[in-house]
Amino acid sequence: MNQIRRYNTFSNWCNSTFGHPIHKICLDGGFTCPNRDGTVGVGGCIFCGERGAGEHVNARQTVTEQAQAQLDHYIRRKEKGGFVAYFQNFSNTYAKPQELKEVYDKALISEKIEALAIATRPDCIDENIVTLLKEYNKDRKVWIELGLQTSSDETALRINRGYKTEVCTRAVKLLKDNGIDVVIHIIFGLPGETEEDIKNTISYVNSLPIDGIKIHSLYVMKNTKLEVYYNEKKYTTIDFAKYIDLVCYAISNLRENIVIHRLVGECMENLLVAPKWEQDKNAILQTISEKLEKEDIKQGDKKWILQ
Ligand code: SF4
Repeated sequence: MNQIRRYNTFSNWCNSTFGHPIHKICLDGGFTCPNRDGTVGVGGCIFCGERGAGEHVNARQTVTEQAQAQLDHYIRRKEKGGFVAYFQNFSNTYAKPQELKEVYDKALISEKIEALAIATRPDCIDENIVTLLKEYNKDRKVWIELGLQTSSDETALRINRGYKTEVCTRAVKLLKDNGIDVVIHIIFGLPGETEEDIKNTISYVNSLPIDGIKIHSLYVMKNTKLEVYYNEKKYTTIDFAKYIDLVCYAISNLRENIVIHRLVGECMENLLVAPKWEQDKNAILQTISEKLEKEDIKQGDKKWILQ
C-alpha cells in the first residue's frame, strides 16, 4: 500500500480483478423479505425503508428494462470498463432457485456485465441457492452481500434483525466452501451499541473468510420505525466526528485483504430525516482520508484505538 492507498478500495480491487473499472447496475428484482412478510418477522429491520434499499431504482420497469436503461446511460457517458448487475432491494435470494434464475437471467443482457452481486440475508442462503450461484460463478464473478449490521445478538433484537449471528457464520461458510465471494454489511450508530460491540463486530468479521465489507452510519429514513423512535427521542443519531473515529478504527483493525466496498451510506435526499451530514458523501470520504493521512493509519495496522 502506498501513501495514497491506505485501504483496499473497491475500485482498486476491480482494476486488479477485471483489468478495468466496474460500474454498478442497480436492480430491483421484485423480491420481498422473510423479515417483513411474517416468515421470520413483520415490519422488518427498524431502519428498513418501504423499498428495502435501492430507492432510486425504477421498479416500474422490468429487470431487463432497468438493466438496459442503466447500460445505455453509461454508454452515453462513454464510461470505460465493465458492469456488475447488483440486485439491491430486499432479500434477493428469497425465492425458489428456478424463480431466482428467471430473474437473474433477465439482468444479464450483455457480455459486458462481468459480475453478479446479490444482496440478501444469511437465513436466505441454503445448499440449493448455492448450487445455482455456483453455475453463475462459472461465467462471471459472483458475490453475495449479507446484511449483518452487528455481531451483537442483543443489538440484533433491538433492531429486529430477525436472525442470530451464528446464522451468518454458517451462511458465510457454505458460500465460501463453494467458491462464492462474500461481502458483509455493517452499520455504526445502531441503538444501544457500545464501542465494545463495535470492536466485537470487527473481530467477528475478521474471523470470517469474507472478501469484502460495506460500512455506513445508521441514518433515519422517512416512514420507518426508526423515524418514530427518533421523533419520540428514543434514538439519537451518531455524530460526524464519532463516525469518522469509528471508521478509522475499522480500517486500522480490519484484515488487510478485506476489500472495503463502501464507507458511506446512500440515502436519497428527499427521504433522509437525520443526520444531515450523511448527505455530503464527499465531505465524509475526504475527512476519513485526511484523518488516515494525518495519523498515518493503514488497513490492518491495528494502530487506531477507541478511547
Ligand atoms: S433484512 Fe434487509 S430487506 Fe429485510 S427488513 Fe432487514 S433491511 Fe429490510
